[in-house]
Amino acid sequence: MVKWFTRLAKQRQKRSSKAGDITSVDTLPFYLEQNSDLISSDRLHVIRQFRGSVENQLKILQLSLNATSVVLFWSGPLFEQLTTYAFSSQSVNFVSGTFPSASGIVGALKDHTEIALAPHHSNSPAIPYYSDSSSVGSFFAQILSSGEPDQRKTGNYGVLCVDRVAQEEWSPLERTLISATAEQILQNLELSRDLFLTDVERQTLQLVFDGLQGLNSALDLESVYNAAAQALGLLVDADLFAISLIHSNYHEFCYFSGDNKEQILNHKFVLDDSLIGQVVKYRKTFPETSTYTGRVPVVNGLKLFERYKTVLVVPLLQEDNPVTGVLIIAARGENILTWNSREMIEIIAAQAAIKIDLAHSHEKIQQMAITDPLTGIANRRAFQCGFSAMYERARRRVGPFSLIICDIDLFKRVNDTYGHPFGDQVIQQVARQLNEVVRTGDLAARIGGEEFAILLEDTGLSGALDVAERLRKKIEKLRLFSQGDTVPVTISLGVTEYPLDTDNQDTLFNYADQALYRAKESGRNRSVCWHDMT
Ligand code: GH3
Ligand code: MG
Ligand code: MG
Repeated sequence: MVKWFTRLAKQRQKRSSKAGDITSVDTLPFYLEQNSDLISSDRLHVIRQFRGSVENQLKILQLSLNATSVVLFWSGPLFEQLTTYAFSSQSVNFVSGTFPSASGIVGALKDHTEIALAPHHSNSPAIPYYSDSSSVGSFFAQILSSGEPDQRKTGNYGVLCVDRVAQEEWSPLERTLISATAEQILQNLELSRDLFLTDVERQTLQLVFDGLQGLNSALDLESVYNAAAQALGLLVDADLFAISLIHSNYHEFCYFSGDNKEQILNHKFVLDDSLIGQVVKYRKTFPETSTYTGRVPVVNGLKLFERYKTVLVVPLLQEDNPVTGVLIIAARGENILTWNSREMIEIIAAQAAIKIDLAHSHEKIQQMAITDPLTGIANRRAFQCGFSAMYERARRRVGPFSLIICDIDLFKRVNDTYGHPFGDQVIQQVARQLNEVVRTGDLAARIGGEEFAILLEDTGLSGALDVAERLRKKIEKLRLFSQGDTVPVTISLGVTEYPLDTDNQDTLFNYADQALYRAKESGRNRSVCWHDMT
């Protein structure tokens, strides 16, 4: 079921520039019968039954008026022409087919809702559905239009034509009969459209439901972005999906799929009078119609969006809370959105807003779980994970890595003399120095009260000793003041290398600890390699 809808959407997109919105209800059920691959066989059956019932109505009209032919044409989606939809005729000259809507007598319907021609004679305008209309004595045609009077300009209307041999005027009773038939056909048409609308709505709801399910199972931010894009992809055939999140006075694109990704993704833009700025300010979807004129830039200074004819910027918001971001959909074609997809996109956006918020909290909690709150560097737990991961990588690659453990010297005294809060500041300062000596890929962590560890990826003993010494000297040079004193701070360090010292992870840690103990024993403020102890 989903398949035919998607195909319908594709077909709609392909033809939309020429024929307007083909899925517009006005074109139904005519369009669907001609494109029967777009609908399920159940529906096709109903739509064929509809035609059968129209044919019966035409037959009854033909008999009651003693008419030669009664024909129902429909105009759309290509409004320049009329196509025979159903007929009842006794004439051998009757031709079923498609005619230019301006041809012959029917052309007069351009300015009138009905025309009556009696008598019809040889130099009267031709009747398009006859190869020879010489035997026609009188003719009547009426527009069938359920919508607005100007609907004919957009090209979706029916024309009911009646002719007969007799040349007499059409009586009021006969006209009433024709109008009543037209009215009945229109009512049936409405019914079959309602049926189709219900179908489409059900399909759309199913798609939204599938999309929401995908969103619900996404936990981290990246999967929420992907799930939102996937959900929207089911609903609309767009060329660009993006999500930008609001931060005080700017927004930053955190998800982007489309051309020129590098110009957009992870770039920040000010929140001004651009379309995105307005969506955030007015808390509603813009533009009002999804056809994009380019008058208001989506993002100021970015020409990228000018190539899209459809753009929709939807706010990400929860109830009365401030807008947290925007979701952007763009397509090169026009009329990409069906009559109810805008609403459905907003439902997806509302759910995405909740999920993004949750994913943010989730990330924050995860971050908290691995960060030491006093210093902001990795905690013991993160160190253990990092240590195992580095150990496994080194084992697979058969490459070295180094572990340094360090401890602040005589820290108890610092606490006792200057107080615990000052002690905390010392710990923070030491952590800052650690952060400065490590490179990307390395890990600095606080693994105890005044005890730290450094993991150095791809680094052998001599490199590790360099880092240890650099750190030791940096800390030795720190000038920390309390109660008018300059408080000296030093650290002692133990250095080990995998696989030089051992190929066992726990042993490596023990050796580093032993080397640190040796550094303390032998006077503090020094680095000791376990390798040199043996
Ligand atoms: P050593 O040179 O042998 O390491 O001497 P030390 O005084 O540093 O050794 P010890 O382990 O006896 O003392 C560590 C002190 O660190 C004891 C404890 O009160 C203090 N400490 C542990 N965690 C914190 C903390 O978070 N903040 C502060 N201010 N002090 C802490
Ligand atoms: Mg200590
Ligand atoms: Mg200690």
